Amino acid sequence: MDTLVSLSKRRGFVFQSSEIYGGAGSVWDYGPLGVELKSNIKRVWWRDFVQRRPDMVGIDASILMHPTVWKASGHLDHFTDPMVDCRECKLRFRADHVDALPWTHYCPATKGNKFTIPAGEPCSHCGARRTLCPDCGKGELTAPRQFNLMFKTFMGPVEEDASIAYLRPETAQAMFVNFENVLQSMRLKLPFGIAQAGRSFRNEITPGNFIFRTREFEQMEIEYFVNPNDRVDGRPADEHWHDRWIEDCLAWFRRYGLAEDSLRLREHGKDELSHYSKRTVDIDYRFPIGWSELMGIANRTDFDLKQHAKWSGKSLTYFDEERKEHVVPYVVEPAAGLDRALLAFMADAYREEEVRGEKRVVLRFHPELAPVKVAVLPLLKKRDDIVRTARAIRDELARQWRVVYDDTAAIGRLYRRQDEVGTPYCVTVDVQTVGDTDKGESADGKVTIRDRDSMEQIRVPADRLGAVFGDLLGGQNWAEAAARVGRG
Ligand SMILES: [Zn+2]
Ligand SMILES: [Zn+2]
Repeated sequence: MDTLVSLSKRRGFVFQSSEIYGGAGSVWDYGPLGVELKSNIKRVWWRDFVQRRPDMVGIDASILMHPTVWKASGHLDHFTDPMVDCRECKLRFRADHVDALPWTHYCPATKGNKFTIPAGEPCSHCGARRTLCPDCGKGELTAPRQFNLMFKTFMGPVEEDASIAYLRPETAQAMFVNFENVLQSMRLKLPFGIAQAGRSFRNEITPGNFIFRTREFEQMEIEYFVNPNDRVDGRPADEHWHDRWIEDCLAWFRRYGLAEDSLRLREHGKDELSHYSKRTVDIDYRFPIGWSELMGIANRTDFDLKQHAKWSGKSLTYFDEERKEHVVPYVVEPAAGLDRALLAFMADAYREEEVRGEKRVVLRFHPELAPVKVAVLPLLKKRDDIVRTARAIRDELARQWRVVYDDTAAIGRLYRRQDEVGTPYCVTVDVQTVGDTDKGESADGKVTIRDRDSMEQIRVPADRLGAVFGDLLGGQNWAEAAARVGRG
């Protein structure tokens, strides 16, 4: 993880928020390459799950919503962690995490000497167990109190209870609240889904592990509505679609590069399920911190629509034309964290290789996710015609893709730099491309394309680059593309 954090900072993927002021707690900023990577993940997710599917539509709702939304959803009453406070140093801990911390102890058996004792262990001198604050070792802890994880703010000029609003802790509720609007405006038939990608906020008390758990984060959520009375292949429709979504999401992460053996499904036990959930399955990824949740896919039944119908007084039902009956749809919810997905794609892409006795760091991003698609590099920056040609190629390719020009080092070093940020292809312009009139050598108009993963190179007429990258970045593999160029 430290390697990723340092690479992220050094190469402009992720910075600590407000770093010049010492940083802000568990919030991070995406840098020039991070913003490209993140927007590529989001765009590909939207394209695959919304744009290409006839049964999906999207929305983009406000972060601030009517406060009753959070009453109806249960967040006001139940979205809490039990917290204890130290009466001396005022530090606050999650009640269920206190015993997992090493603790400070002033031992009466050794004239009050201070010790730091490993989590859960007694003092080896006096045998005492922790009862006081684990941090300062002096203060008593309060009884546990429920602490709501929503960020609270005020709407309008007056800071009073009537104007309290919350930053949304999840994007899902906007899809339920807009169910009727979307259904009517788009004339949809069940089953259909509403997707949204956007920011959510949770005042986590123990956040951490880089961008894995943060207080401000982006979610990519889908609420997929089905008629619970329908059956598909002899099974209730909600159960059928739940399985389909688990498969589709798993396949999606594999398609864009996550290794098969670093992904697993984890079924929630009965004791772990939310009270409204019929079944929840997590897709876990083997992060640098160990196996952890990448996304969850829950069958939320008709809980949310019924709750919002109750609190709003509006009917949130679907009229089944064939059966001539109103039903409250069940909902299957594939919910993914964008920052977490980005961390997984980065961790999976990271390799340290040895090339001719030298270490090469490479991010083997899927070309669709890579922040930069092509780097155009002049072999000699002293030659005006080479530089001019290289810049013209960059400008032409940049009409379609994120393409950079770099002439600030020797070619070997430029390649390494691009490998380290995961650029799948480099184009070099050399003397043969533009010719050498002094030596009477004519221009061949060809440039070299270098493949990041195999480090193989092919020579291609410069005016065919658009077509070649159209194939390569559109999913054709290197070997096929190289063979085709070879055949002319
Ligand atoms: Zn304390
Ligand atoms: Zn002791």
